[in-house]
Amino acid sequence: MALPLLKPLFEAIDKAINEHGSAAIMKERLELFRERMQNVEIQIQEMLDRHAKEIRDLKESHAKEIATVKEKYEAAARKDLRSQIVLADGVYVPIQGVIDGYGKGPWCPKCFDEKEKLINIHRKQAGFVNDYTWYAMMCPVCNFSKPCQ
Ligand SMILES: [Zn+2]
Repeated sequence: MALPLLKPLFEAIDKAINEHGSAAIMKERLELFRERMQNVEIQIQEMLDRHAKEIRDLKESHAKEIATVKEKYEAAARKDLRSQIVLADGVYVPIQGVIDGYGKGPWCPKCFDEKEKLINIHRKQAGFVNDYTWYAMMCPVCNFSKPCQ
């Protein structure tokens, strides 16, 4: 069974095979066949273009859907995270002692409040004069610093 697109081609070929015509008639048949092949070629190209556009549109639409789902998921995760931490003495700590995947903190209040990211802050030497050294909790990402013992 021929595809509808190819049917006129097969018909033109059958005509050329079955008719016992002169060289002039055969030439005419071959020219008709050639013309129909060109039409099929054009139609195939149009189909390819249409399919390429459909694929592009689908990819674009999928990318948008994925971004929307990701956004919703991240918003839910942030909301969930916010409900699991508390400000204590100026830094974030877990309400329950530890958060799966994030640990025990303490976390930078600036990074969480501004970018909703839990960044561990560390006690580091902040300065010294003679034998006296002082320390601060410092964020490795932003410039947050809080004096500590
Ligand atoms: Zn920070």
